[in-house]
Order: sequence, then C-alpha cells, then structure tokens
Amino acid sequence: RFNFCAGPASIPEAVLTEAAEQMLDWQGRGLSVMEMSHRSDEMVGIANEAEADLRELMGISDDYAVLFLQGGASSQFSAVPLNLMGEGKVVDYVNTGEWSKKAIKEAKRYAKVNVVASSEDTNFTTIPAFDSWKLSEDAAYLHYTPNETIGGLEFFWTPESKVPLVADMSSTILSRPVDVNKFGLIYAGAQKNIGPAGLTIVIVRKDLLGKANAMTPTMMDYKTAADNDSMYNTPPTLAWYLAGLVFKWLKAQGGLEAMEVLNRRKAEKLYSYIDASGFYSNPVEVASRSLMNIPFVLADASLDKAFLAGAEEAGLLNLKGHRSVGGMRASVYNAVPEEAVDALIAYMKTFAEQNS
Ligand code: PLP
Repeated sequence: RFNFCAGPASIPEAVLTEAAEQMLDWQGRGLSVMEMSHRSDEMVGIANEAEADLRELMGISDDYAVLFLQGGASSQFSAVPLNLMGEGKVVDYVNTGEWSKKAIKEAKRYAKVNVVASSEDTNFTTIPAFDSWKLSEDAAYLHYTPNETIGGLEFFWTPESKVPLVADMSSTILSRPVDVNKFGLIYAGAQKNIGPAGLTIVIVRKDLLGKANAMTPTMMDYKTAADNDSMYNTPPTLAWYLAGLVFKWLKAQGGLEAMEVLNRRKAEKLYSYIDASGFYSNPVEVASRSLMNIPFVLADASLDKAFLAGAEEAGLLNLKGHRSVGGMRASVYNAVPEEAVDALIAYMKTFAEQNS
C-alpha cells in the first residue's frame, strides 16, 4: 500500500522498522526513547546527532541556530513576527495561497503587514513575477511560502532580499538542496519530510536572536530555545528521535541532491501523464508546479467518489484533495517511492479508460 497523505505523511519503511525494533528497549538500555529524561546522556546524544545530521544534509553553518520546537508551523506564524518585527516595523509578505494567507492573518495581529504581491487573481495557480513585488523600503523581514501544500505551487527561485528572508518550508524542506545562507529564518512542521507530527524545526541566523518584541512569551522567543539547546522545557523527544532516523536515512539515500533527482522524476512522470490524459488536469503554471504536492481534478467531478473508492481498493491511500479546493491531491514526499507513482498512474489510466 502507498500513502499519498499531505501530512502527517509517509515515513520511510526502514525508519519505521528500526524504530519498532528499538521501541521497547533502546540500544539495550532497558527503556524506550519515550521514557528517557530529556536531560539524560542518551537523549542528549540522540538530540545532538539529529542536529548534526540535519546541519550536514542542508549545509547549515554555525552562523545559524537549529531549534527543535513544538507548536507546528502554525505557531511560527505568530513567533516569526514577534521575534523579528522589533518594536513596530513593517513586515513584508507574499501571498501565493492558503498557507501564505494564514501566515499573513496571524502577522496582522502584531505587525503592520505589507502584502508585496499576490496571485489570488489567478486562484493561486501562478507566482507573481519578482519585478512586480512592491517591497517596503525598510521592512523587518520578507516572508514567503516556497511550497503551497494545498495549491501545489512551488518556487524554483529564491527572492532577492535586502532584509532577512523568512520561509515556511513545511512541505518542501529536505526535498532538494537549498542555500540556507540566503535566508534569515526557515521553519517547517515535521510531519511531511522530517518525521512524525509534534516537532517543528526552526533554522535562524544567530544575529536575529535576542530582539524579540517585549510582549513575546518566553516559550515563543527563539533565544530561549537557542540558549537552552531546545530543552528549556520538555521537548518532543520521540519525534526528535524519529526525525534523527529520517536524517540518517536521507544521508544513506545520497542526501538532498539524490532526493532532488528522484523527486523530479516522480513529479515529471505524474504531471506528464495528467497533461496527456485528457481526463485529468492540473491548473498550475508549468514552471511553478510543486514537486511534493500534485493536485488534479477529474473531467467529471461526479466521478470523484468512485475514483477514491477504487484507489483505496488498489492500496493507494489519502488521495482526496484539500477540503478548500476539492478534487484529488497526490503528495509525493521523500518517503513515497517511485513505485507508488507508477502504481498511481496505472490506476489513473485504468480508471480513465473505464469512465470515458
Ligand atoms: N505551512 C504549510 C506550508 C503547511 O503545509 C502546513 C501544514 O500542512 C502548515 C504550515 C501548518 O503546519 P502545522 O500543522 O505544523 O501547524
């Protein structure tokens, strides 16, 4: 069976197997990772190794702190403005879809938000050209969503920014290499390419720490986590451990360069089939089609239910599109193998033949 869920998403089978083997008795210590003190040598070792492996995978220099937090990417929608806006500067946001909108809505509670560009007029099927962006003269930062998980819209270029660039990479992190040095802050909920839900990763340039707005709760101030190795309070230890196993798995696959090759091949196969089918379609401009989240609709929406039922039966799980857009969505994160895409295309072909 193959799982195309947008999140919590598929986890590599090798990782699940290893975690299951170690579940009752981690490395012969007589207890599970879940039962360890977060301050124990064992857990601190697991935590440090995970951070080191993530730094290696993404090429994160010592100029950046890597934080392992709770609260999901949604909490970062508040933490980002609170930490970076200073005492009342303008903040710049790009609106390319549902997740951008949520980030903007939350930032507006605290800061003066300037929406520099929006693709709402194309129903979020395009990315506004960079030369049309109305950047503020003196923003505290520029925020964008490199991959819109719901719309299936992805940036394959990085905005040029004089101010710290902030990216919600929840659904694209670890899918291909990025130049971390171009960013002031990157954040991501774990439950797609990192591991299970409950963990949130923040990668923040150290010079941006310690400037949080006075009203920032202690737990939301990135400096609190940075000063305490993300152990100011009890961290999500099990999720952190599992993320560490995923990072090791990624290294064994050949790192992010290898993932990019595979992810491009998977996505290209599916988009090519969709475009050629005459039965399915994807509305996103070709240059900005997501490698991770591939939404598509059937020519006749009254067939949606039958399509999904048949897919379940064929072992193709969680293809239903997001409730806000309908149709279907195949999320093909790192842990979704190429065979899953092949199986999906084979099913889609048969279904189209039987229903045309
Ligand atoms: N941002 C993006 C791009 C997402 O895809 C998601 C969840 O799917 C979120 C934010 C929200 O993440 P969380 O559920 O971790 O708060």
